[in-house]
Amino acid sequence: MRVLEVASEATPFAKTGGLADVAGALPAALGRLGCDVTLVIPAYREAFAKGLSLEPTGIEFEVPIGTRRSAARILRCRRPESPATVLLVANDDYYDRPSLYGGAEDFPDNAERYIFFSRAAIELACRLEKPFDILHCHDWQTGLVPAYQKLLFADTPAVANARTVMTIHNMAYQGLFWHWDMLLTGLHWRHFNWQQMEFYNQLNLLKTGIVFADAVSTVSPTYAREIQQGPGGCGLEGLLASRADVLTGIVNGIDTQAWDPGSDPHIPRPYGESDFEQGKYAARVALAARLGHAAPDSRPLVAFVGRLVNQKGVELVIELLGRMAGGGRAHFVILGTGSPPYEDALRRVAAAFPGTIDLVLGFDEGLAHLVQAAADVTLVPSLFEPCGLTQLYALRYGSIPLVRATGGLVDTVVDTDPDTLRDGTASGFVFQGFDALALEHALVRALDAHADRELWRGLVRRGMRQDWSWDSSAREYLRLFERTCAVPPARVD
Ligand code: ADP
Repeated sequence: MRVLEVASEATPFAKTGGLADVAGALPAALGRLGCDVTLVIPAYREAFAKGLSLEPTGIEFEVPIGTRRSAARILRCRRPESPATVLLVANDDYYDRPSLYGGAEDFPDNAERYIFFSRAAIELACRLEKPFDILHCHDWQTGLVPAYQKLLFADTPAVANARTVMTIHNMAYQGLFWHWDMLLTGLHWRHFNWQQMEFYNQLNLLKTGIVFADAVSTVSPTYAREIQQGPGGCGLEGLLASRADVLTGIVNGIDTQAWDPGSDPHIPRPYGESDFEQGKYAARVALAARLGHAAPDSRPLVAFVGRLVNQKGVELVIELLGRMAGGGRAHFVILGTGSPPYEDALRRVAAAFPGTIDLVLGFDEGLAHLVQAAADVTLVPSLFEPCGLTQLYALRYGSIPLVRATGGLVDTVVDTDPDTLRDGTASGFVFQGFDALALEHALVRALDAHADRELWRGLVRRGMRQDWSWDSSAREYLRLFERTCAVPPARVD
């Protein structure tokens, strides 16, 4: 199976979020399953700054953008550790900038930058030696690829027989632009209608991808269901429900090399299932020293690591701390950065309970590893969560995830109760309503369970044993590709 992965960011070249982890890891995992995979990404300034060897391929062509033409120069990166080919689309006017999408404000020409990228990706596919079976597009930045394939390249043998798959990483970002940007796409105005590319008088690039793709996927089965209704669908719920027959959810994998308690350079003593208590204690001592304490206290350690934004349920954490920190049953550590009002509220509550709450405002990858290794419980009380990785890292590091029942959290954490303990599926604690009392109640259950050492050891060991590697996610993507190739392409008018 020949697969073209098209994404606007991918590790190790350029990253702003989880999309880059997926686009970085999936091609290699599909390659290990025998697929012939090519990944196409923009050649950002950040990619050049990484010291990776980016070689010219000699492939250069012009891409129509409205009434103009812009040049695309194709570079290749050879990476011995990955079987996938990586091609980068260079155009310095668009991509030689200090950030990927803009700072506090998006770049004003983001529509043009990703219309160009989508068109360049499909033009590039036409110039490579063999045709592709699958064009796999990620998020709004590549939403035009399925439309181009069906509307402009239907007679071009290199891509005409390919099937297109659109993967949605977060419905909250749809690529909404001024209607006149439609002119830049080169597509006929008749497609600017409410059933195809228009969304309340604006051009919607994610919607375009969902409409024209042969199959649609998102990053967990529960999120796939949630986005077919409001508010999860963010206005596109009707469209997504109409595509339910080709809509799948596949949980993301984690990088099991970067996140391995058996070899993690960020923790003082590597550990596995058999010696997790010693390993976690050593991490707890190191964390206490790092946070300025003489020694760790003996209470269970409850952690929160994440962006301090509304999506992550930070207001519930703040209220929980106010209610529980005085009770003395747990020590809390919060690592995050984000919206200033949340940071201020956390500062205030941490100052009120200095021996019980440690607050680190900032982004620190190494500290995130140490916190997961030291923690007994990791809180993920999200309002919505397409997939979520924090809970998967927690499981692997023997910290029990306490999550709200939403999106990928539902698909990856099983609540602990007498039934799930008996059948061996219990892996964490789950609460339903988005409110601090429900979170507190779940934490009290977790702390009670922590007091039962045998029960807790069983939970930790089972979580550490689970396989959330990319290999199992890639097998599901491969099945999706095979299913999609087995049926005729979706028709469009
Ligand atoms: P999202 O992609 O929505 O932010 P995920 O749970 O999928 O949420 O992934 C978040 C990742 O970012 C995790 O690896 C988490 O450890 C990391 N992270 C978030 N905030 C911080 C921080 N302040 N310092 C270090 N790592 C962080």
